[in-house]
Amino acid sequence: MNKTNVRLLMTALMVAAMALILAAGCGGSSDGGEQVLGESENADEPGDHADNAEDAENAGSTDEVDGVSAGDDASAAGNELPPMTTTTLRPELDEPPVLADDLPDPLPEPTEANPFPPLPADSDEAVVVTSNNIVAPIVRSISDGHFVRTPCSNQRLLFNNRTLSRAHVVLDAGHGGREIGAVGSAGVREKDINLIVVNKTKELLEAQGATVVRTRTDDYSVTTQARGEIATRLAPYLFVSVHHNGGAPANDDRPGTIVFTKANNPDATRFGGIFHQNLNKFLLAKAAETQAVYDDYMTQRDAHQAAQEAYDAAVAAQNAAPAPEGVDPAAGGETNTTIQATPRPADANGPVLGPDGQPLTPPEPFDLEVPAPFNADTENLQFKFAGAGNSGVRSWIRDDGEDFLGVLRNTQGVPAVLAEFLYVTNPIEEALLADPEFLDAEAFILAQSIVEFLTTNNPGDGHVRDQFGDQNIGGGGRPSDCNESL
Ligand SMILES: [Zn+2]
Repeated sequence: MNKTNVRLLMTALMVAAMALILAAGCGGSSDGGEQVLGESENADEPGDHADNAEDAENAGSTDEVDGVSAGDDASAAGNELPPMTTTTLRPELDEPPVLADDLPDPLPEPTEANPFPPLPADSDEAVVVTSNNIVAPIVRSISDGHFVRTPCSNQRLLFNNRTLSRAHVVLDAGHGGREIGAVGSAGVREKDINLIVVNKTKELLEAQGATVVRTRTDDYSVTTQARGEIATRLAPYLFVSVHHNGGAPANDDRPGTIVFTKANNPDATRFGGIFHQNLNKFLLAKAAETQAVYDDYMTQRDAHQAAQEAYDAAVAAQNAAPAPEGVDPAAGGETNTTIQATPRPADANGPVLGPDGQPLTPPEPFDLEVPAPFNADTENLQFKFAGAGNSGVRSWIRDDGEDFLGVLRNTQGVPAVLAEFLYVTNPIEEALLADPEFLDAEAFILAQSIVEFLTTNNPGDGHVRDQFGDQNIGGGGRPSDCNESL
């Protein structure tokens, strides 16, 4: 696309955006999003989050819809939006992010051969890493210590801790502590799998030479402010918040992956497209593979059922056959002219014979393992994804023009995305998420997508129109809900 076309496209987009804003009005219409996340981590400064939706930071996805976490957004759960269109709206993605004056210099340009070049040695200390591995952004340094922002957005003076100045990538495991996130019917909890995926992704990237920092390293609360501030201070190439969604009905052949991208950040938009493309390709293949397992199970189950029915019918036929007159089956076939024809038990007279007169043996017990999440009585095993109508790569912009999701709003100058991989609350997807190998695969795709972002100009796909307006997606990520761990 040439520059004129780009300008025309930009103009058209601005007009379209204005139209959407006007259409949405200020009343928090339902345009945004069905399931976007439920979680909301929000976390503004203590004090300015008095009202709800605005600070809901995180996501809107419905995670909490199932009521596990916040509770008050359960009502939003069933509130489905019309399907989003999936045209690619923002293909031009090569402008650098705008950095605020007080942010560190950009990292060295990655190359195809080296996505993670050496970090600058002269950067200021950005975060503290405590002895129990909690990461806290430095607010101010004094001669022998650091004032840090704690995971609950308090300030504390720490001494003698390790510090880090820069990172190539910051990974954010959504939720933690009392904030569980979405929970499936088999008990898979979002906060747990988010951290597993983050840990594995870190390991994979570090094997390629990356310095990776996690905003949450264990099961504890972290406000969205603290999460975002860690990324802002470290000024990485990319910040990725890992989430799994909840709440949507499961009725589609396409995955419901959502990637929220930091508003007006072309790098975030491009990474979102790469990740969406790679994850969806994998999920579609996984769905086909899983469906083949179901089909195979059903074929074998049906064949066993048919064999059992044939055997039972043969037994019934033999039971119903009268003994010849004068033969006493109970006496081993002894002849006695006074005995009348009578039904005899099949097993009294040798093997059960099939229609062809040959002996039948009873089918072996059917002990093929039932594929999760179904039970042996399930009649029809079909792999269906949840949330496809709401899938796509987009920004979610508040009425004041800022990112709706706090964790994206608080990552200043950093290409930042919040990804809802798939739905914990869909039992068939939950069964995948309960498998450690599947979580490893998610991590592999995330790591691979990060490297692809750094070493190519691929735009990815799955971009849809941005969503606008506020929406109450429940609490989360706020200081008031935070259990201090530091
Ligand atoms: Zn979440």
